[in-house]
Amino acid sequence: MNKQVNTTVVRISEGNPNPPEMAGLGEIIKKGGLVAFPTETVYGLGGDALNPESSKKIYAAKGRPSDNPLIVHIADLNDLPKLVVSVPERAKKLADAFWPGPLTMILNKSDLVPTETTGGLSTVAVRFPSHKVAQELIKASGGYIAAPSANLSGKPSPTLAKYVLEDMDGRVDAIIDGGDIPIGLESTIVDLTGEKPMILRPGYITKEMLESVLGEVLTDPTILDASCKERPKAPGMRYRHYAPKGELTIVEGPADAVIETINREVLISAGERKKTGVIASDENVPYYSADVVKCIGNRNNPEEVAASLYRILREMDDENVEAIFSESFSEEGLGEAIMNRLLKAAGHRKITV
Ligand code: AMP
Ligand code: MG
Repeated sequence: MNKQVNTTVVRISEGNPNPPEMAGLGEIIKKGGLVAFPTETVYGLGGDALNPESSKKIYAAKGRPSDNPLIVHIADLNDLPKLVVSVPERAKKLADAFWPGPLTMILNKSDLVPTETTGGLSTVAVRFPSHKVAQELIKASGGYIAAPSANLSGKPSPTLAKYVLEDMDGRVDAIIDGGDIPIGLESTIVDLTGEKPMILRPGYITKEMLESVLGEVLTDPTILDASCKERPKAPGMRYRHYAPKGELTIVEGPADAVIETINREVLISAGERKKTGVIASDENVPYYSADVVKCIGNRNNPEEVAASLYRILREMDDENVEAIFSESFSEEGLGEAIMNRLLKAAGHRKITV
């Protein structure tokens, strides 16, 4: 795709989330344009959720298949009933507990939401983000912003504005640089249209957190078992996702064996003249020898690991690493989302030692 538009970058921080430029950025969306913006999860690529032409532009800018629905972002709880047929009791409870925040709910859509935004589905994904800059942009734009992650389809979601610019320069009218992103993984998606609530994508709001409010919550079986033949209920989970350009392999097992195996695999790849990289928890960094060794944070601090993951995958690309080996992490709590994204980025290539 050639450069279609001139992309302006505007720096707006959460400390002063509504500077004079915000009204103009809201106008761009009202007029059918696209603005990338920070949220607490990852950077989003925003357009008017109620305008089918805007949604089409989002798909074109990302190179995303148009059957992969967008999430509609709101900044006022009173706007939720307008998007959906009805607001079930469970949605009210979840909104009370976790909104604004990194939770997306799937509900039956009202006629207000065009099917271009929902990838042809009769349901709609809705989120009320907590990031102050996101909230101000949503308000300035009229209340409903459709926004997937602001990366080219298939690449890791951006957690820094420079990666949004790398992917979206010439494809969007403006990028709001809000600095670092606090969480670094996409929102938890929970489907509330079935008999029991079901997690379609794990995220910062864990199953335990949802169950503390709703009682039993199911998990889409395709998340737990990569060999599961069913279709994932969240269409986006079907596609290869979050992937770096290099070939990523995860190595799991006791720490000593993992270190030994990764170092051996690095030597094999180096022998094939490949540039090698390792993703290591901070306690193990000194034990690796590869062209590039990246520290993903302390393995006992999953918040830290989540916040670094996508940046590190992008840095491996920046440095043209061809063979990447990563340690594995606990699947407890937020670890479930970390391992879900890491395994997808690896195309499920995993060595167990
Ligand atoms: P992204 O914003 O890039 O993280 O993508 C949003 C994801 O939300 C999509 O890839 C879908 O998997 C999921 N999603 C959005 N709307 C729906 C829906 N109505 N039903 C199921 N999943 C949805
Ligand atoms: Mg995405």
